[in-house]
Amino acid sequence: MAEVRHILSLSGGKDSAALALYMRDQVPNMEYIFSDTRKELPETYEYLERIEDYLGKRVHRLNADLGFDHWYDVYGGMIPSNHRRWCTKMLKLKPFEDFVGDAPVLNYVGLRADENRSGYISHKSNITPVYPFQEAGLKLADIEEILQSSGVGMPPYTKWGRSRSGCFFCFYQQKIEWVRLKETYPALYEEAKAYEHPFEASGNTFTWSERESLAELEQPERMSAIKEEHRQRQAAKEAKGAELTLAQVFAREEAAEDVEGCLICTL
Ligand code: SF4
Repeated sequence: MAEVRHILSLSGGKDSAALALYMRDQVPNMEYIFSDTRKELPETYEYLERIEDYLGKRVHRLNADLGFDHWYDVYGGMIPSNHRRWCTKMLKLKPFEDFVGDAPVLNYVGLRADENRSGYISHKSNITPVYPFQEAGLKLADIEEILQSSGVGMPPYTKWGRSRSGCFFCFYQQKIEWVRLKETYPALYEEAKAYEHPFEASGNTFTWSERESLAELEQPERMSAIKEEHRQRQAAKEAKGAELTLAQVFAREEAAEDVEGCLICTL
């Protein structure tokens, strides 16, 4: 019988980071991996180093040579989207399955007890997902406590109002997150914008963000409007929150945080 391998995939997000710290002493032979799209935020690499320091172990970087641009060329220069989501498959799922091979594997997933997300995870028969946070009943506040008490802290992107790890141009980000990307990392915004050109096969121009190009979104009046819409939505939520119980507030925050179908990139 082949020996069972223990593998934990880090995304750069808080839940997988907290799970890595949580499991360090429970599974000493854990293998930690990170599928690098080569389009991650610069601060994600620094955060991974902090996690490695705590673990006392190196995190295997997958995709070292074949990042996003390789697959972008293979797919004929087509920007991925929710309906054309080749990126997760080729940059996250496939490298993970290649790394795993055919040996039996326990794959540790950072889903919490207070969330009900689903998304891309491997369904290979030799891979068995395990959910330590759910088994232990650990929720958002527990995950934050694990990160803070370890000294690793929350992922740096949370400080400038971004809600997700993964590629800086991820099409799942909200309009306000594009505005914040432009303000925080203008060069990365320009890089994302450069992908928006007519698709050779059809002549259509695909955009990262729904119904508008990044060139349109970055116009000062449009950025102001997005900020104002966001401010109004937040104010309405807060006003409504005043009437909610604490449990309802948590449930609402969880729903807002849920990233549809992007589990492997953002957990
Ligand atoms: S983070 Fe977004 S763009 Fe990057 S691989 Fe995942 S779904 Fe695709």
